[in-house]
Amino acid sequence: MEIKQAEFLTSSAKPTQCPNPDKPEYAFIGRSNVGKSSLINMLCDRNSLAKTSSTPGKTQLINHFVINSDWYLVDLPGYGYAKVSKTQRKTFKLLIDGYLRHRSNLMCLFILVDIRHKPQKVDIEFMYQMGEWGVPFVVVFTKADKLKPGEVEKNVTEYKNALLQDWEELPDFFISSATKNQGKDEILSFIEQVNQN
Ligand code: GDP
Repeated sequence: MEIKQAEFLTSSAKPTQCPNPDKPEYAFIGRSNVGKSSLINMLCDRNSLAKTSSTPGKTQLINHFVINSDWYLVDLPGYGYAKVSKTQRKTFKLLIDGYLRHRSNLMCLFILVDIRHKPQKVDIEFMYQMGEWGVPFVVVFTKADKLKPGEVEKNVTEYKNALLQDWEELPDFFISSATKNQGKDEILSFIEQVNQN
């Protein structure tokens, strides 16, 4: 699939403010600074559709974009950022949880993980929570260009092993690099396939 049209629709501070669930929806989430904005911009072939920000944890809104007049791409706020207040963290959590648990048109959640890091508790716990809630998700490893190919493979295996400690079935995984345009075709084909089913 090629993204011919990508338009910002709206920002929502509450799940109830989100647009009508009248198109299939694909949402992107991850820890702050994981490379979410860069990935979204890469997928949409835009330089600044999603803002790449040097201030982690700033985005506290659910941002909806309409893609090819056909589906919604959703930029969710980052989670697990240590340097925000407890109240802010609680507000994030309410917003994200409320959205994830009740968004009827959510076809798949893309959970972004920085390929350079060892499996992090906050990410693994988040994945388990999605499993419990029955939210369909896949994992996208970001910033693959920062590692040598052998290291990429090693870290992916380590991640899979961490998940297999408690799960029998693994989610789908994608490896991406926004600077090298890696993973774009695979992710867009995946979305196209889900949309067709
Ligand atoms: P966000 O906070 O998750 O939206 O992350 P950003 O997209 O703003 O990226 C955070 C930082 O990582 C920025 O300095 C980006 O330039 C950098 N970055 C993001 N993706 C990549 C990537 O694939 N490769 C490299 N080398 N840097 C990246």
